[in-house]
Amino acid sequence: MDRSVSFTLDFEDLRTDPSVQEERVGLVTDRILDRLRELKIRGTFFCVGELASRHPELIGRVVADGHELGVHGLHHIPNDLLGPDRFRSDNLEAKRILSELAGKEITIYRAPQYSLIPSTPWVPEILSELGFLVSTSVLPARSPLYGWPGAPTTPFLWPSGLIELPSPVMKLGPLTIPFLGGTYLRLLPAAVRRRGVRNAHSETVLWTYCHPWEFDPDEKFYVYEHGGWLISRVGWLNRQNMLKRVEATLRAGVGKPLGEIAATLVDLPVFDPTQDSNGSEIGAV
Ligand SMILES: [Zn+2]
Repeated sequence: MDRSVSFTLDFEDLRTDPSVQEERVGLVTDRILDRLRELKIRGTFFCVGELASRHPELIGRVVADGHELGVHGLHHIPNDLLGPDRFRSDNLEAKRILSELAGKEITIYRAPQYSLIPSTPWVPEILSELGFLVSTSVLPARSPLYGWPGAPTTPFLWPSGLIELPSPVMKLGPLTIPFLGGTYLRLLPAAVRRRGVRNAHSETVLWTYCHPWEFDPDEKFYVYEHGGWLISRVGWLNRQNMLKRVEATLRAGVGKPLGEIAATLVDLPVFDPTQDSNGSEIGAV
């Protein structure tokens, strides 16, 4: 059983007032890239299109270092707030920006804040229409922000043919949590994380997700746009140890970039949220 973990980073900028708050995302991402190069780790960088267009040299370095690029929206707006038409035009533009910077077509996508949810079922079909092949946008659990409880926890196909690699989750008491990502990775004891890896379903593709700001203890505190003071405060905890935690997580084995893994998967089950388990259309009489 392959228990290696792939590295992914969501290249985004959460500042609420760029005229006051210093931009540090480029500086910090450069540092992360330095360390990944030392460790010979290749991962997947999901980039916000507009931010990537402001940092072409950095994206060039990501590509030159052998990492894979993916789309993370045009402006990091959750999909339920965009609606289908703007989702289509935004992601067409983000795909164009990143494909130009990469010098090849980008075909992997991650939704901002995992906003592929029961109320945005149009996302996979539009992604397929735009030429995407792989999505890593479903958090198959209840979540304070976005999540799809009951969605498969192992790779599956949407009816459009798009491959989905759901966020790895584990049970912790009454909760189901994405234990390899962001806040959980910064704050959970290492033993819990190791247990999650050990107990994961054999078909689960394990990947860790993180954000540049999580590696930046020197950033001045501000309150996030979509979170109150407490959630924002949690976002500053243990940033000084994030790199060590990521390295420890990957020490047992580094997985390939997610697009390369997805290309090897065969015979995936189809998850069609419009059908119930008997194959009947939901809502049909
Ligand atoms: Zn994001």
